[in-house]
Amino acid sequence: MLKQISSVQQLIDIATQKDVPISQLILEYEQYVSDTNAETVLNHTRHILKTMYSAIEEGIHSKERSHTGLSGGDAYLYDKKGSLLEGVAAKALVNAIAASETNGRMGKIAACPTAGASGVTPGALFATADKLGKTHEDLVYPLLTASGIGVVINHRAFLAGALGGCQAEVGSAAAMTAGAIVELAGGSPRQVGQAAALAMKNLLGLPCDPVAGLVEVPCVKRNGMGALVALAAADLALAGVESTIPVDEVIDTMAKIGKDMPIGLKETATGGLAITPTALSLTEKILGS
Ligand code: SF4
Repeated sequence: MLKQISSVQQLIDIATQKDVPISQLILEYEQYVSDTNAETVLNHTRHILKTMYSAIEEGIHSKERSHTGLSGGDAYLYDKKGSLLEGVAAKALVNAIAASETNGRMGKIAACPTAGASGVTPGALFATADKLGKTHEDLVYPLLTASGIGVVINHRAFLAGALGGCQAEVGSAAAMTAGAIVELAGGSPRQVGQAAALAMKNLLGLPCDPVAGLVEVPCVKRNGMGALVALAAADLALAGVESTIPVDEVIDTMAKIGKDMPIGLKETATGGLAITPTALSLTEKILGS
């Protein structure tokens, strides 16, 4: 039984050697760390998926703005309009925005890895399931794989915008999701790692700069874009495209960039988009300061 996870490569090596998907290792790991049995872990994962799906459903059918008025209604708008992306990409985009808008309205979401980045995984995963004709039950094991990648990121870097910028939230979510999509589509453990690397590499350096310190702007739309990155990374990995920089080195790089990042770009709302003239005027209107 796997008791400690320190790298994605470790997961790839063990899974390949045992000829099992990465999710099987994570199922064992979760049983160990939570001191429980497989059925409890699987049921908990099913519950998380159900919450994720409800967040999408709630978001996609609502035109309502959030309490602050900063977000809401964009998923509804996009869903009603014909899309250039049409198909799985459009669905991933709208799903992710919908779930994230539910978060903006203080609705119920499943943090993955955080509330701010809670749209990426449901967005891309449920869209891929539709495309591949998979059921929600088929997403249980891939979601465990996503969580395993998250465990590694948490171990080697961080999962909070306050510590590492948005690369640690939406970047991590995209890496976790890309790996999960690959497993869902029948890819190998090595391809899971490649997808995670490709996704995270392309979101490195992303600052956490929420307007008025609220998880709405730019967060909601960033979740949509993060879902597209995850989808594209998974698609490339499934085709055999590999990241020149190995996944664990990409995660270590995210940690280093996060440490080097100025404090103004780490959820303090004192840098980036949060201090644009428009953002400052909105902040004054909302917070009265
Ligand atoms: S900008 Fe900051 S608060 Fe918003 S999703 Fe990214 S990390 Fe989270």
